[in-house]
Amino acid sequence: MSLDADTFDALLDTVRRFVADRLRPLEARVEADDAVPADVIDEMKAMGLFGLSIAEEYGGLGLTMLEEARVAIEFGRTTPAFRSAFGTNVGIGSQGLVMAGTPEQKAAWLPRIASGEVVTSFALTEPDVGSDSGSVRARAVRDGDGYRLSGTKRYITNADRADLFTVMARTSDDPGARGVSAFLVPRSLPGVTVGAPEKKMGQRGARVADVTFDDVRVPADHRLGAEGEGFKIAMRVLDRGRLHISAVCVGVAERLIADCVAYAGERRQFGKPIAEHQLIQGMIADAKTEALVARAMVLETAAAKDAGGDVVLESAAAKYFASEMVGRVADRAVQIHGGAGYIADYGIERLYRDVRLFRIYEGTSQIQQIIIARETLKRGG
Ligand SMILES: Cc1cc2nc3c(=O)[nH]c(=O)nc-3n(C[C@H](O)[C@H](O)[C@H](O)COP(=O)(O)OP(=O)(O)OC[C@H]3O[C@@H](n4cnc5c(N)ncnc54)[C@H](O)[C@@H]3O)c2cc1C
Repeated sequence: MSLDADTFDALLDTVRRFVADRLRPLEARVEADDAVPADVIDEMKAMGLFGLSIAEEYGGLGLTMLEEARVAIEFGRTTPAFRSAFGTNVGIGSQGLVMAGTPEQKAAWLPRIASGEVVTSFALTEPDVGSDSGSVRARAVRDGDGYRLSGTKRYITNADRADLFTVMARTSDDPGARGVSAFLVPRSLPGVTVGAPEKKMGQRGARVADVTFDDVRVPADHRLGAEGEGFKIAMRVLDRGRLHISAVCVGVAERLIADCVAYAGERRQFGKPIAEHQLIQGMIADAKTEALVARAMVLETAAAKDAGGDVVLESAAAKYFASEMVGRVADRAVQIHGGAGYIADYGIERLYRDVRLFRIYEGTSQIQQIIIARETLKRGG
């Protein structure tokens, strides 16, 4: 289901103004505090942002992937932490439930996730399990009408705020991906502990922490899908998440290009604005060309996904290209700003640090290359 065109355009316009007028002036504060202000979170809840992709019957806005991508591009125009505040509810934290949940599980959780009352996190990565995510070691051992869950999850986005975790854990002795199941684990269960937020390179305000499960008793009706389906669910969730992240990369690139154009028009060297020097123009042309390519990839793939197509290859390609592209654009943005690009007041160095993460999480660039090659070989070209 999607919104009618006028309603969606109005939403996009509201988001655009919210980003420009409300969020951008707060960027330095989020960086300093490592937190998105609580009143901003409340405004995001009121706008329905926590339920963008959740069906209307559960209180969400029911956006299509294409619509969600267009909203994500708008949020790319400011500090990525703002999008992250609701990003796990819209994406990796809730989509396992949306895709594989029973009607009872959905009714129990989705309305509160859509409203932002419940914050969700996606817990796949572990201290010894990263890119090889089918080898998870956390264990969920059957015990009567439930499971006993033990293990540690690492670098979990929004863990410190989360009320509900989608956790991938091993339920059989099969060492491969087939032995993994997915669970909805409320933070309130005895034995769930969230560690202190990590210090990191960028994206301050979007915090990550370890989550430890110490013999947590999880009722059997909290399992998502059948036993052994957890890895498949996680991969479907990430397929979708990759498109969302690609859209954010496009938005950040477009923001940086606009900042560069403004600065290059004002800054004068050798008697004229630096925008009139052709070597500066070359950097702007390269950045703009690559951003346009990424935008086209993201929107075309999102539309194909909405039409029911298999977009595993295209989503991986969009994530690979868009995340590498925004890294190159951020690097050029520092260069175009000269010394100012290196100085915190201008915000360019902050975005330069922020975008580095896009090449790492939700599958590194190398993992995207592996998926693209595998799918291309499978398709015969
Ligand atoms: C800020 C942040 C937020 C995150 N949020 C979440 C979250 O919410 N939930 C969650 O579950 N995880 C999260 N992660 C974890 C993230 O998804 C992993 O860090 C990522 O998948 C890479 O895993 P790793 O760090 O263990 O690196 P590794 O897998 O150890 O990789 C190290 C290097 O080896 C390369 N490599 C690995 N295997 C291969 C191969 N077969 N061929 C070629 N190269 C290879 C990688 O590409 C990388 O360059 C987050 C991470 C960060 C930093």
